[in-house]
Amino acid sequence: MKASPHVAVVGAGTLGLCSALNLAEQGARVTVIEAQSVAAGSSGRSVGVVGTQFTDAFDILLRVHALRHFRHWENHGLGFHHIGYLRLARTAEQMRLFAQSVDMQTQAGFRSRLYDRDELKDLVPHLSPEGLEGGIFGPDNGFLDPYEMCNFIAEKLRSIGGEIRQLCKLLGVKRRSGGFALETEKGVIDCDIVVNAAGAWAPAIAELFGQSLHVFGERHEAVVIHLDPPLAYTMPMVMDLVNGEGTGLNFRHDRQGELIAEIHKASATRPEDPDHYNDQCEDASKVHLAELLLERVPDLPGARLGRGWAGLYPVTADHLPFVGLVDPAEPGLVTAAGAGGYGVQLAPVIGQIAADWALHGSPVSAPGTERLSPTPDRNVSHIGHGEKLAEAEMLHPQGK
Ligand SMILES: Cc1cc2nc3c(=O)[nH]c(=O)nc-3n(C[C@H](O)[C@H](O)[C@H](O)COP(=O)(O)OP(=O)(O)OC[C@H]3O[C@@H](n4cnc5c(N)ncnc54)[C@H](O)[C@@H]3O)c2cc1C
Repeated sequence: MKASPHVAVVGAGTLGLCSALNLAEQGARVTVIEAQSVAAGSSGRSVGVVGTQFTDAFDILLRVHALRHFRHWENHGLGFHHIGYLRLARTAEQMRLFAQSVDMQTQAGFRSRLYDRDELKDLVPHLSPEGLEGGIFGPDNGFLDPYEMCNFIAEKLRSIGGEIRQLCKLLGVKRRSGGFALETEKGVIDCDIVVNAAGAWAPAIAELFGQSLHVFGERHEAVVIHLDPPLAYTMPMVMDLVNGEGTGLNFRHDRQGELIAEIHKASATRPEDPDHYNDQCEDASKVHLAELLLERVPDLPGARLGRGWAGLYPVTADHLPFVGLVDPAEPGLVTAAGAGGYGVQLAPVIGQIAADWALHGSPVSAPGTERLSPTPDRNVSHIGHGEKLAEAEMLHPQGK
């Protein structure tokens, strides 16, 4: 390994940019190559929620690393809106798991507490507690503008010598001794190591290297809700999932007089072509969303639906991201993709681990995260893995 290897990162979404920044901070020479422009893929279509209300210890461990980076960047000017995050429970069993989550989060240094059904209105005065047992609330969680996050990281990267080439699609790869010659729309780039952070396009990039990668694009929709007059309080992020099904609704404050809501659906079975999918919210989805919203927050003042859009969650069969080597015999190609509905909040830790794999050959700074490697048992098609997906949805619901 050279003292200062040249690493090419494919994709300028949250995962690519965070990988690039971590690499450059460790002294690598870094070039990001992006087919379109910064945040043009899934990242620019996200609703930017960052939360820690998880019931699985590994999910919390990943956020310990991620939040450390976010707090650091926040201290350096990244906007982060601490509106809080409320996850609702419909059963006593869910409340039991939430109680465990409070303990795990406390140990991890995150603030959170349980709310019983009657207390929920203290947080969201318009909430109907119908069918609920209570919830878990983290006051420090919140959201950021993912487009702003990408540009913030891009600027930091440039300030320490990293380069970002936009409108520079990767077209082909030739191996050369100890590295690669990347054929792009803007000529050939020689590099020692490549990080594949191309989101829903990551399988196409892997194929250029002769690898098979199972990440698929799952379409999700979001809609703006206008309120007139604006609320007298700040709506936290509210996650209202129907037990075990992974379906439901989430909504949060966006700006004065506006909420953003997302219908939450269980895993789709039909992968989308990232170059040809409907990136608009369908009318039927808006109607469904309005119905769900009316049930949970019935008397929102003057609520009306605004613009909507759709984007892709880059998903893996077990709903955990791929970070590491597809083929241990090819240590010069690191994958950082498949973060599903968590690719904004997990990007800082994914970038940290991807940089570790590229420069040190293992995730030295985040012990325990080897399990994110795209090993043959994980790097499988979701098709024919219905049961595995259902289990994954229970363990790692895509609900932010
Ligand atoms: C509606 C919606 C809401 C969401 N809400 C949240 C949320 O609240 N919180 C959260 O954490 N996550 C959320 N997500 C998920 C999050 O947006 C994604 O997980 C994340 O953006 C994935 O980032 P990425 O860098 O892997 O992919 P991308 O952002 O898609 O970046 C990949 C990049 O690779 C580029 N590329 C592709 N092919 C090539 C090539 N041949 N050469 C060069 N470049 C190439 C693309 O142009 C693209 O810019 C949401 C997603 C959607 C759709």
